[in-house]
Amino acid sequence: MEIKKCSNCGSFTTSADSLCDVCAKQLKYNTTLLNNYFESNVNFGSISAIASATGVSPSVVQNYMIENNYLEVPTNATDAYYGNLPY
Ligand SMILES: [Zn+2]
Repeated sequence: MEIKKCSNCGSFTTSADSLCDVCAKQLKYNTTLLNNYFESNVNFGSISAIASATGVSPSVVQNYMIENNYLEVPTNATDAYYGNLPY
């Protein structure tokens, strides 16, 4: 079995992913917190406001927002996105 180092905390792991079980679980938990936040906050705040509201670190919040198109990426910014929001 291959032993790797977790890309987040550096501890040794035999997980198939780049994250150890602890960090993978934490990431999943953070994602759940952020999903809940964005579901119940139509007018979400800045990254730091979201971080303090959820307890998730700002860099994780930023990654989440980019992955879920909450942050505008210049090449990808269209008004159509806003038209698709359910409110
Ligand atoms: Zn880890």
